[in-house]
Amino acid sequence: MKNNLPKIGIIGVGHIGQHHVKHLTKNTECRLIGLYDINNDRSNVVAEEYGTKAFRSIDELIENCDGLSIVTPTKVHAQVAEPCIRAGKHVFIEKPITKTVAGADRLLQLAEENNVIIQVGHIERLNPALIPLKDFDLNPKYIEVQRLAPYTVRGTDVPVVLDLMIHDIDIILALVNSPVKNIRASGVSILSDSVDIANARIRFENGTVASMTSSRIARDKVRKIRVFQKNMYITIDFLLGLTEIYRVLDENEENSAAIQTASLDAYGSSRKIVYEKPNVKKIDALEMELANFIASIQGKETPIVDGHAGREALDVAIKIHDMILEDIH
Ligand code: NAD
Repeated sequence: MKNNLPKIGIIGVGHIGQHHVKHLTKNTECRLIGLYDINNDRSNVVAEEYGTKAFRSIDELIENCDGLSIVTPTKVHAQVAEPCIRAGKHVFIEKPITKTVAGADRLLQLAEENNVIIQVGHIERLNPALIPLKDFDLNPKYIEVQRLAPYTVRGTDVPVVLDLMIHDIDIILALVNSPVKNIRASGVSILSDSVDIANARIRFENGTVASMTSSRIARDKVRKIRVFQKNMYITIDFLLGLTEIYRVLDENEENSAAIQTASLDAYGSSRKIVYEKPNVKKIDALEMELANFIASIQGKETPIVDGHAGREALDVAIKIHDMILEDIH
């Protein structure tokens, strides 16, 4: 019965918000109640395109929903999410959770008091190219990430660390099960008033080192991660959806999925290096992420990236950004 399904609304229907509307319109596990955008013209255009209601009052939309997807600029995430949570509604907040850690802590506390879910849109965690890694015992020693994008004004309300690098920070925190020991970072401002190119190195308590470069001043998009660990090297191209794995096996160890690329005999051992290219399923990560939110409201799943994970990624991102500012001045 459609009437028993969670009632969902969307707040902010700009570039990314319209995709939320598209997926939530199609999701058969929820009822899309409508949307609200501070820009009435934008509300009308998107509501008409997807056959839903454009609310003129944000409070009225909140009142009529069980869960809200918040897709406004980051600087207003906290002020928009707070009344939703206070009204006892579950929230999906686009990344980063908020602009400040204090803002995130406040939302987390309110969510606990009101017994609601906060999910954060760290969409790369659902990138299909990461899924094959679940089959391996991961214990990274060194991680290298590059995320470059051509300049657009959208997103420049926050520095590049909070706009782009935070995706990689979240992935790295999920891959490395250890507290951060120290951070080194530097960056520059080129086109916007804030930092547009950043490089950071995190050392974790367990010895893992992660090095990240993010830039929003590039000709072409690049999104690559390389993970090195004892006897294994993984390289992922998020844009191509390509995952490649090089592993060391004993000479007589069989692996039908792998192609042998080299023997390590020259080093006095009977081992070989094999290459594997796991099949990466084509999935729409935003569709999956929103389906996870709906299923979490229904108590069937838990959020893949919850508010606490969103807060941790933000905390590291802000430490990196503060260090860059310190380095510049
Ligand atoms: P956008 O500027 O295109 O859209 C934002 C919309 O929010 C606009 O239509 C604007 O009118 C509306 N808005 C602003 N203030 C509002 C308010 N107080 N109440 C209601 N509506 C309001 O921005 P965008 O690129 O769609 O980004 C939105 C969010 O999505 C940001 O937090 C951004 O970081 C995030 N984002 C996520 C990804 C991802 O990969 N997950 C990618 C890009 C952006």
